[in-house]
Amino acid sequence: MENEYKIIEPEVGQWHAIVHAKCPRCRKGKMFSPGFFKQKMHKRCPYCDLYFERHPGYFYVSMFVSYALNVAEFVAVGIGTYVLSGGSENMWLYMGLILFATFLLAGFNFKYSRVLQMHYLDPGLRYEPVIAEEAHNIMVEKQQKQEVASV
Ligand SMILES: [Zn+2]
Repeated sequence: MENEYKIIEPEVGQWHAIVHAKCPRCRKGKMFSPGFFKQKMHKRCPYCDLYFERHPGYFYVSMFVSYALNVAEFVAVGIGTYVLSGGSENMWLYMGLILFATFLLAGFNFKYSRVLQMHYLDPGLRYEPVIAEEAHNIMVEKQQKQEVASV
């Protein structure tokens, strides 16, 4: 007798979920409300009801992720400036462009430092489609009961 193993392919890949800032548990609910410069994070996943700030000071770690992103951007802007300016030695050109990039990418860093932390640096959090689906059904039931109670 042959054993049959059913391989469940995730509906949404991890890379896709990270780029679109989706919840790490269900990969369906968005972590942030729309907007590039004004980033607003949802308290709970709109799909599976996962509470994003898992404990007080949870997003303290994202500060270090943001630092790493900033260093990578500084180096990229510095090298890009050097190449595009034909090897300029004007310090103010580099400082100005790096400062400009810092302000321009502040929203990006805020958002993706949290997304990367939740997807890669939290060992207690992973893609769990079955649990997420159950949590979604419980959330929908609760909403329906509230609607019935309010009528
Ligand atoms: Zn979710």
